[in-house]
Amino acid sequence: MTRFIFITGGVVSSLGKGLSSAALGALLQARGYRVRLRKLDPYLNVDPGTMSPYQHGEVYVTDDGAETDLDLGHYERYTGVPARRSDNVTTGRIYSNVIAKERRGDYLGGTVQVIPHVTDAIKEFVVSDLDDEDFVLCEIGGTVGDIEGLPFLEAIRQLGNELGRERTLFVHLTLVPYIPSAGELKTKPTQHSAKELLNIGIQADMLLCRCDREIPADARRKIGLFCNVREKRVIQALDVDTIYQVPIAYHEQGFDTEVLGHFGLLEEEDKDSLDLSRWRDVVHRVREPEGEVTIAIVGKYTNLLDAYKSLAEALNHGGIANNVRVKLNWIESEIFEREDANYYLEDCDGILVPGGFGSRGAEGKIMAARFAREHKVPYFGICFGMQMAVIEATRSLLDIADASSSEFGPCEHSVVGLLTEWSRGNTVERRSASGDLGGTMRLGAYPCVLTPGSRVAEIYGDRLEIGERHRHRYEVNSAYKEQLEQRGLKFSGMSPDGILPEIVEIPDHPWFVGVQFHPELKSKPFDPHPLFRSFIEAAVNQSRLV
Ligand code: GLN
Repeated sequence: MTRFIFITGGVVSSLGKGLSSAALGALLQARGYRVRLRKLDPYLNVDPGTMSPYQHGEVYVTDDGAETDLDLGHYERYTGVPARRSDNVTTGRIYSNVIAKERRGDYLGGTVQVIPHVTDAIKEFVVSDLDDEDFVLCEIGGTVGDIEGLPFLEAIRQLGNELGRERTLFVHLTLVPYIPSAGELKTKPTQHSAKELLNIGIQADMLLCRCDREIPADARRKIGLFCNVREKRVIQALDVDTIYQVPIAYHEQGFDTEVLGHFGLLEEEDKDSLDLSRWRDVVHRVREPEGEVTIAIVGKYTNLLDAYKSLAEALNHGGIANNVRVKLNWIESEIFEREDANYYLEDCDGILVPGGFGSRGAEGKIMAARFAREHKVPYFGICFGMQMAVIEATRSLLDIADASSSEFGPCEHSVVGLLTEWSRGNTVERRSASGDLGGTMRLGAYPCVLTPGSRVAEIYGDRLEIGERHRHRYEVNSAYKEQLEQRGLKFSGMSPDGILPEIVEIPDHPWFVGVQFHPELKSKPFDPHPLFRSFIEAAVNQSRLV
């Protein structure tokens, strides 16, 4: 029997609903249950694929090629369960499906309304494409009281009724702020938020209260009394020094125990039958590293950390694997177009150019790749970062000064060009320059064949076929492959049909690797991605040289 846990948020946004959901998923998993995590997003974009990272942070890509909310990254990193297209839906997607059905005449002349048609579509989404998991944790984006969120809240209210209390649980995440002038923690915002939820017909079963200090027992009692929640189910979510501590901290506060209690799954002897050792090990490594390396990330959205969420996480995982702290030095690439790159890069132990779009800042990224190649500093180019490294090598090693990408406009030597046709399994996908922008990139997991004896083959443990996730419209042009290989830039990973370059590397360099895919999406704290593990290892070696 699958049980559904709905997680809503109140008071303010950014309380970490995604992480809280992921942490609860990890705890239930540690108790031996099978979990799946989902996110309902109340905005009108069909998916976040066309949104600027400034609006929405990173776009997380699933194996099956969906462009989804970054919270799915937290879910996957914490539980190891690969996210799927069916784990994220937006108002835009729900409405476009409902309207398509209306156009087809599926509603047989009926008036199409938010209730029941939109809410039915939401409910259908929540309960479909499951594999008989024990728990589905379903996070509702936004905060209670937002107009956009109402159809989602109404849908989960109905589900609570239809599935019954024994199969559903409502968790509400709120803030209990400390007011310095009063010297007190305030419970009123939580009371109001729980009431707002009740107005919609949802009685929270459990409150997760974010706070920067212990909530005294009497304050917890008061919250429980006013919000009609058992005192033991008012759980404090104290700030922690590392996000990997969250599952442990929640367990110590009895979160998972109370969740199981609600579902009648808690036998007395079961109380402590969970193993959190892998989380304790990760926390230990984060808190007590044996050294430190500095990685320069030369990108475009460097003042918004959410834009590179999985990347920052994967670099930390690389640090965990090598027992070092990874200091991230975010550098806006445009700066190199005005100022000397050496000044910014000479003290770092590794340079990473992440994924990106558009010409702004591209020349700066090319300069960062040049600096890394010439000064023999470890270089990791991801997607756009690989493309810029290949442009750099073509300009410097092949003396083709106008080598560029057709993403920046027409050019004679498009070393990186628009991908108009590629195969996925047995089907051929076709695109044109004038097609839609949404959902039309090369998306999701594709296989890649590695060259035996190459650095990447060694990094991947001598596996010669790997699968990694993609999200790009342009592709390195293999017409320059032979010439570049002669000058030392090897194409050590190709699509199985041998057409699309997937990985380039310079063997005669401490560590210079460019990948067309996004390895950061698959890294986990307790299973760091081999490329990040190896890149940070190279940075550790580099730091010993300086
Ligand atoms: N803009 C490049 C492309 O579309 C790279 C995309 C990326 O880095 N994710 O191919």
